[in-house]
Amino acid sequence: MNPPTGPSHFIRDIILEDMKTGKFGGRVHTRFPPEPNGYLHIGHAKSICLNFGLAAEFGGKTNLRFDDTNPEKEETEYVDSIMETVRWLGFDWEDRCFYASDYFGQLYEWALQLIRSGQAYVCDLTADEVRQYRGTLTEPGKPSPWRDRSVEENLDLFQRMKTGEFPDGSRTLRAKIDMASPNLNMRDPVMYRILHAEHHRTGDAWCIYPMYDFAHGQSDSIERITHSICTLEFEDHRPLYDWYVEQLGIYHPQQIEFDRLNLTYTLLSKRKLLTLVQEGHVRGWDDPRMPTLAGIKRRGFTPEAIRNFCGAIGVSKTNGIIELSLLEHHVREDLNRRAARVMAVIRPLRVVIDNYPEGQVEEMEAVNNPEDASMGVRRVPFSRVLYIEQEDFREDPPKQYYRLSPGREVRLRYGYFITCRSVVKNEKGEVVEIHCTYDPETRGGNAPDGRKVKSTIHWVSAAHAVDAEVRLYDTLFSNENPSETKEGEDFTANLNPHSLEILRGAKLEPSLANAPVESRYQFERLGYFCVDPDSTAGSLVFNRTLALRDTWARIESRAQGAPRKKP
Ligand code: ATP
Ligand code: MG
Repeated sequence: MNPPTGPSHFIRDIILEDMKTGKFGGRVHTRFPPEPNGYLHIGHAKSICLNFGLAAEFGGKTNLRFDDTNPEKEETEYVDSIMETVRWLGFDWEDRCFYASDYFGQLYEWALQLIRSGQAYVCDLTADEVRQYRGTLTEPGKPSPWRDRSVEENLDLFQRMKTGEFPDGSRTLRAKIDMASPNLNMRDPVMYRILHAEHHRTGDAWCIYPMYDFAHGQSDSIERITHSICTLEFEDHRPLYDWYVEQLGIYHPQQIEFDRLNLTYTLLSKRKLLTLVQEGHVRGWDDPRMPTLAGIKRRGFTPEAIRNFCGAIGVSKTNGIIELSLLEHHVREDLNRRAARVMAVIRPLRVVIDNYPEGQVEEMEAVNNPEDASMGVRRVPFSRVLYIEQEDFREDPPKQYYRLSPGREVRLRYGYFITCRSVVKNEKGEVVEIHCTYDPETRGGNAPDGRKVKSTIHWVSAAHAVDAEVRLYDTLFSNENPSETKEGEDFTANLNPHSLEILRGAKLEPSLANAPVESRYQFERLGYFCVDPDSTAGSLVFNRTLALRDTWARIESRAQGAPRKKP
């Protein structure tokens, strides 16, 4: 085994200790256990990186296991997207993709075993009654009137539950544990419920389905998982997890809980994300504003950036909230390294250079990535009519505005110095075209006489430009905590009405004409962009991944060692 290299945290410490004591014979075998009832989100990425990362670090293995015990909400579409997403993040379960539903037969046998040993019984209380009998945190529960059925009767009823004799909800199989336990999960938890529902894998083979708690630990056990890593809300379930594997006398994995990822301006709940999709607040699970990994991918975030982010946030035993700007910081850092620079004008303003020869075209050399010389250079055509960004011109420039304005000289990146001479307006009085002159001596961006200009702007040659649609995004929610709502409102009241802005008629330099879907660029001065799958030949659509400004870097430079978690 290679010496461990991952970031230090308490779960890693537990594994290091187990390796020392030989608790699992030196094995590390983890699993990532999604329920296929929605698309994976950035919170799942934390769990994926943790499970696969730890196993890789210790020379172990990680299984992908679909926790599919809830037939009503699960679908093959979700299974497929989950597999695609885990692979996209850069992880490999090799030949170990399993389903809890593969174990339905074994789980049924184990249920029979607990009935025979007097530790499980068929209960005829309704779901509401079970809840009433369970008691509260301050009051003990009451035993079910069916608690003392004989083993024979229980075996008979449970088998008849399985063969479909009884309607949904009429009976359950429950573990006989302790109705006075301070832990509500131990008050005779339901093991099986009746549900005449079609399962995405087992079809109608079953009409009884195991509860999560009765399936999860045993699935871990069957797969000989060593460290069963899950989020903190399962801490109170651990005694039950342990109880089942101990009473059954089977191999016993160790459950360990860690903090869920929460992000500002973001909701990480599959149920709420499903609502956004179903109610049409977004264009689908992979809408680039969604925190799903499919959405994040479409937005242009890289798997490397997500893995770096997951490493940076660490793992702890208390839930907190991470700043969205920290995730964005890692995306910018990665894209800064790898994205080719190009020039694109997203809100075009026509510029005519009156003294530039009609019909002349020059090929200007431009650097593809100042961070990476190996990405080389390209040629960008320059001609008499160009587009510049509307915001790079002001007829009445405020103080400190150094970009183009009447009489002002600026540098065109990789081009010449130009000076604005006059403007053309439409009938509404808006500037629709500006006329400039250029100084032929300044090719490449410097004046032989040493005169300086205060700003450099980007441009695209009009005759050579490629048209594109550009989609700009802001956070999907307007407030930091989108689940905080006023009385009578739900979380959708917090949706940001300006989360999507579509610009048509953006002008791109011609090197982008055949940009493939998902390819990523830095549009100089504007941000990082990637090609959306809505693009068709000759009609490109770009998503803005992020603008260039990095609030996180600012926060960090202002206060070195600033806390990343909000209290
Ligand atoms: P949600 O609450 O969003 O519906 P879930 O917990 O029901 O998610 P599962 O499919 O059961 O989703 O999750 C698979 C694994 O991912 C579990 O081990 C779960 O603990 C983990 N996980 C889910 N959400 C987060 C999160 N926000 N941060 C870290 N891990 C998470
Ligand atoms: Mg779950």
